[in-house]
Amino acid sequence: METSEPLVARHVLEFPGGYTRSTGPVIGRFLTELRAGRIVGVRTAEGRVLVPPLEYDPATGDAVTDEYVEVGPAGTVTASAWVGEPRPEHPLDRPFAWALIRLDGADTALVHAVDAGDPKALRPGARVWPVWRERREGGITDIAYFRPEVTMIVSPERPEYRIQAGGALRTFLEGVRRGVFVGGRCPTCAKVYVPFRASCPECGSRIAEQVELPDTGTITTFAINNLPDPRAPEVPFVSAYILLDGADIPMIALVGGVPAHEVRQGMRVRAEWVPESERTLSMANVRWFTPTGEEDAELT
Ligand SMILES: [Zn+2]
Repeated sequence: METSEPLVARHVLEFPGGYTRSTGPVIGRFLTELRAGRIVGVRTAEGRVLVPPLEYDPATGDAVTDEYVEVGPAGTVTASAWVGEPRPEHPLDRPFAWALIRLDGADTALVHAVDAGDPKALRPGARVWPVWRERREGGITDIAYFRPEVTMIVSPERPEYRIQAGGALRTFLEGVRRGVFVGGRCPTCAKVYVPFRASCPECGSRIAEQVELPDTGTITTFAINNLPDPRAPEVPFVSAYILLDGADIPMIALVGGVPAHEVRQGMRVRAEWVPESERTLSMANVRWFTPTGEEDAELT
């Protein structure tokens, strides 16, 4: 006698037309509010807000009050699990996260899908907002999913400015055309500011006295830049805060004539001016600052 194949039959348990359940008053209220585009919780006898609402406080077993509280719509993710390969019955057809979300004003967390794009975007503490379905039926899926709060935008921009120099800036730029850095001395606190400015940022006094500063100074801090810049000679280039001799605040400028890795704090530098015939009313008159070769200055 031949061995027989095992007999296999496929069973599907299905409720055509759906499985009808009554919601009870508490869940019913929750679902009705969802249909209206609101999320509510219920207050417990102890004053906590349960979302989704329950008929009994899971902490004490006491019946909840009949006070419903609107919460959210935004919330904070307390935990999440990434779904890299969504199944047909999942709410999103792209990778997403199941997350526990504590909506603002709630004391408990709700489970829902978050369309975060990337699991790294959904650390605990991430803020999320609901995306509602246009047609709502009174179910938890009336919220299609949540998505992270907007924290960044990419906007194509190319603003062009025409800057009208005020009196103070004009004073400074006219000095730069002559090859001189014009600063201003505060009559009250005696601080010398360069570029020249009309009022003291520290004490608010009006500044009238102009001071001509030498074109030598000391690098206080600097940055090595690895992205090209039309004003810079090459990449990498160095931009630095330079404290001109006699000034109390540094000004920013390029450093040239020295390899980037040799630039240091305390380095003494001098402005390299473009030839007089090429000068305009702009900072482009200073090509950059180059080391003087002096001993480094002590920075205080
Ligand atoms: Zn002052």
